[in-house]
Amino acid sequence: MPEITESFLHDQLLARRQKLESAARFADLQDGIVQLLNEVDAALARMEAGTYGLCETCHEPVEKDRLLANPLIRLCVDHLSPDQRRALEQDLELASQLQRGLLPETNLAFGGWATSYHYRPLGLVSGDYCDLVVRENGSKNLFFALGDVAGKGVAASLLMSQLHAILRTLNAADLPARSLVERASRIFCETTMSTFFATLICGRADSSGAMELCNAGHCPALVVQQGKVTRLEATGVPLGMFCDGRYSTRQVQLTPGETLFLYTDGVSEARSRTNEEYGENRLVDFLAQRSQLPPEPLIRACLDDLSTFRSGQPLLDDLTIMAIRRTH
Ligand SMILES: [Zn+2]
Repeated sequence: MPEITESFLHDQLLARRQKLESAARFADLQDGIVQLLNEVDAALARMEAGTYGLCETCHEPVEKDRLLANPLIRLCVDHLSPDQRRALEQDLELASQLQRGLLPETNLAFGGWATSYHYRPLGLVSGDYCDLVVRENGSKNLFFALGDVAGKGVAASLLMSQLHAILRTLNAADLPARSLVERASRIFCETTMSTFFATLICGRADSSGAMELCNAGHCPALVVQQGKVTRLEATGVPLGMFCDGRYSTRQVQLTPGETLFLYTDGVSEARSRTNEEYGENRLVDFLAQRSQLPPEPLIRACLDDLSTFRSGQPLLDDLTIMAIRRTH
């Protein structure tokens, strides 16, 4: 997650203070409000003293995404009481279930296309975005999207679900991919803090084998054709960087047996025991050798290759892979 400026949190605290003061007029609420007002004032005083955002037990910085969700917290996760920790774990588990509920159908097929994906959050929740939608009314096509919200954890997962909602809504209108991404970028930009952005690759595939692709600052799409892999690089900046960002699209025609392979940098930036990066070139070589595999076994083989490469080294980021293959 990009840096949260303290001035943003300072403004949040002042706004909170104002709300509490106006609510304090209702007599039966007063006790609780006075306590909250004291907490807000104490947080403002910590800002003044330069100790804001540090854990009161260990004096290490408190996790930024938690601070953003609640500017009043004073302890890092390691130093919560057992009750506080249990409540946090339950919240995260619920968030994780909600996020899993946003994922598309597995092994979705449409109009001569077969698809598969693998979605693996680093923790309980992920900042990766993954979607597949079949449009059956108006122009018939398969919408696919893969994205990566800057950062990890709860804040990134909240923005991921926002991105999901924006794209699902826009996708209901029959827009070309370019307009879809331009509008999504504008909405994302206007509704999130300026420090947040997301990379996104999305497009549509129709039953003739034609694909339209738009890549907003995401890792290149890889087109796998009989032992050959073509990289389709980004055609624009990540979403949310500029409200009036302009995007262009690419047209690709796939013939039976050819596959579009999409991934997030959790794959390419995975590291081995000797701290070597898996890297895009290794992925390209791997795909060139396995170009005959259908989506599901291809993704499984890719995960196996990645796991062999890491040889027990833990993953560092959320990881998502999607494969879309022309079958007939
Ligand atoms: Zn601590």
